[in-house]
Amino acid sequence: MSTTVNHWINGAEYVSKSGRTFPVYDPALGTETKRVALADQNEINAAIKAAKDAFPKWRDESLAKRQQILFAFRELLNSRKGELAEIITSEHGKVLSDALGEITRGQEVVEFATGIPHLLKGFYTENASTGVDVYSLRQPLGVVGIISPFNFPAMVPMWFYPIAIAAGNTVVIKPSEKDPSASIWIAKLWKEAGLPDGVFNVLNGDKESVDGLLNSPDVESISFVGSTPIAKYIYENASRSGKRVQALGGAKNHMLVLPDADLELVADSAINAGFGSAGERCMAISVVVAVEPVADQLIPKIVERMGKLRTGDGRRSCDMGPLVTREHRDKVASYIDIAEKDGATVVVDGRNPKVDGEPNGFWLGPTLVDKVPTTSKVYTEEIFGPVLSIVRVKSYDEGVKLINSGAFGNGTAIFTNDGGAARRFQNEIEVGMVGINVPIPVPVAYYSFGGWKQSLFGDTKAHGVEGVHFFTRGKAVTSRWLDPSHGGINLGFPQN
Ligand code: NAD
Repeated sequence: MSTTVNHWINGAEYVSKSGRTFPVYDPALGTETKRVALADQNEINAAIKAAKDAFPKWRDESLAKRQQILFAFRELLNSRKGELAEIITSEHGKVLSDALGEITRGQEVVEFATGIPHLLKGFYTENASTGVDVYSLRQPLGVVGIISPFNFPAMVPMWFYPIAIAAGNTVVIKPSEKDPSASIWIAKLWKEAGLPDGVFNVLNGDKESVDGLLNSPDVESISFVGSTPIAKYIYENASRSGKRVQALGGAKNHMLVLPDADLELVADSAINAGFGSAGERCMAISVVVAVEPVADQLIPKIVERMGKLRTGDGRRSCDMGPLVTREHRDKVASYIDIAEKDGATVVVDGRNPKVDGEPNGFWLGPTLVDKVPTTSKVYTEEIFGPVLSIVRVKSYDEGVKLINSGAFGNGTAIFTNDGGAARRFQNEIEVGMVGINVPIPVPVAYYSFGGWKQSLFGDTKAHGVEGVHFFTRGKAVTSRWLDPSHGGINLGFPQN
């Protein structure tokens, strides 16, 4: 009998009675290993109520105490991240070293949030008017909702909740139903670190839970990460009901390679950013835009490296694991069929890969497609798998125009040894995160993560100062301690 992943509400496992579940697979085995509970309205209400009830006390907890709990959480996470990595690999499929990598990048945000006393400091102006002082405060919102995607079950939620909690909010997180166990493990760790019950709650579920969070008047904000159509839906519905919302969507990231670039570095970078995590990263490079005559020199270098990649079970010493589900593998593979039909050249075909793993795993080998027409769906749509496209352009200008004409604006990179070209690129490119000779430009935690255009709905990005801003409301206080000589009626605005 398979185990059920339940909810975590008010500091304890909450056994679902909804009667609805969803299968969780081990993608390298291709078998269902667990079921995840899908919450009904009662369970949605219970999670939100726990967070709401915990808020008044947590909001008033001293910054010193909150900071101590964050430090304790950081230490526990750091010392036990191997356990979490195994959970991630068993449900997502990414190789263990990559699972550890995502935890480490998430942990950076915990470390950033330990500085919350400094981050919440306001301004103070003495004698703004005679005997009148003005100062600013930042205060928590209340119950905040976090809805996360399957591809980073640990890191993406960690972009949000360390800062939300440090700032005094209480959290309901709705993880992806494809890999829900990481969030339950994290909930237990928070408890061990001393976080009061009800401050961090995990609600497992599907669209019903998402809509429950969107429709609840007790949820103040929504932080969403996932595909663009759902991000749009979240943004529109959350804004309509007056919630604060940041909704990060899909991506199609380009890497522009100029003829003067170091092609050994470019080939390594294309492999790492194209096939790491089997291409299931929102910052994966999916298109290499090669300024002529680069492509003919670069492709053999990429192909040679692809020949060395080992695809297989992430618990063995492989470079690339399986895709998350059979359906997703089939969908990604269908883009290789489309590429052939649309006249592209499939240089390396991953459809029948040699793998170090069980035959039923959701395998797709690394694939390289050259001369991809920019009208093909292979170019226009997000594939989210190990399929790297090459598009050839004649000039830097043509490359920039192509990238800027895309619907998404999450990440991009330029490879060149020309500082002037790189500087022009950073200025002209309409993308939120830019790498210069860096293929996966995920900003460190004290900067903010987020794209432009269809990659982010809302104006506030994840973590960094923007994250602190998102999870707090500003208040300006104008204060006078009475001097009796300043009395009297005055219906005008206070001036000086
Ligand atoms: P998804 O949009 O299918 O799911 C994301 C979340 O939305 C999940 O929790 C899911 O349960 C929920 N959801 C799914 N369908 C829903 C519906 N109809 N109504 C309401 N909620 C729904 O995304 P995914 O497949 O889990 O993740 C991959 C996507 O996430 C890719 O498009 C990727 O680019 C994107 N992503 C973006 C970023 C970023 O920072 N921009 C980061 C990671 C992933």
